[in-house]
Amino acid sequence: MGVNDFSRRMALRSGLATGGLGLAALVPAVSASGSGRLAPAAHPDTSTGTHTLTPAQAWRRLARGNHAWATGARTCPDEDLPLRHELAHEQHPFAVVVSCIDSRVPPETVFDQGLGSMFVVRTGAQTVDGLVTGSIEYGPVEHATPLIVVMGHQRCGAVKATVESIEHHHPLPPHLNAVVDSIRPAYERARRHGGDVVDRTIRIQTLRTVAALAVDPVLVPKIDKGVLGLVAAYYSLDTGRVSVLRTVGMRPS
Ligand SMILES: [Zn+2]
Repeated sequence: MGVNDFSRRMALRSGLATGGLGLAALVPAVSASGSGRLAPAAHPDTSTGTHTLTPAQAWRRLARGNHAWATGARTCPDEDLPLRHELAHEQHPFAVVVSCIDSRVPPETVFDQGLGSMFVVRTGAQTVDGLVTGSIEYGPVEHATPLIVVMGHQRCGAVKATVESIEHHHPLPPHLNAVVDSIRPAYERARRHGGDVVDRTIRIQTLRTVAALAVDPVLVPKIDKGVLGLVAAYYSLDTGRVSVLRTVGMRPS
């Protein structure tokens, strides 16, 4: 499979992701060619930092996938052998998802996505440091990926362990304690508000991570240009649904 075949497949995916406009644009292209093949889409242009999908379109695609997952209608797309071969030489993921290591929250599953769709970065309670931030930047910088989603989740074990460690003065081993230290500022804020301190810490931790990325000097120019958007999200283990806590740079499109 060559680049043009890959681009045609991206065209189909992008068209489906953009709703009526995308489908209307694709149908005449199929008829005109007479071959049943789709016209190539605008290829992601990494030199100008432009992807086929806008940040809003990328988020809608993930939201649709999550709806399918939450309602038991998951389609498990893009896991076939031909696509695996196509992707062997290039990729154009439309999202970076930063989430927890929790076994119940695999991003590809909860967003119903397959191969080549997302860069996935997973750490305990989606904590970030310089090394992790570099991995997050990789998609937007090298592949013009238009969307970063930071996703916390209900009943996060890493946050629960952090709260217990702090409140019971029970230090964890050094590397685990580094995770505790990263979550501690969110906990301190959550504690002042009362209520379910674990759940509030999860949400604040997610928002803090997005706030840090929103001022990242590498990402800011892309956000300002409208080619990168950020979403702070929360996944419910009870419902399977992802809800939005905050967005940055998500212009209507
Ligand atoms: Zn977790």
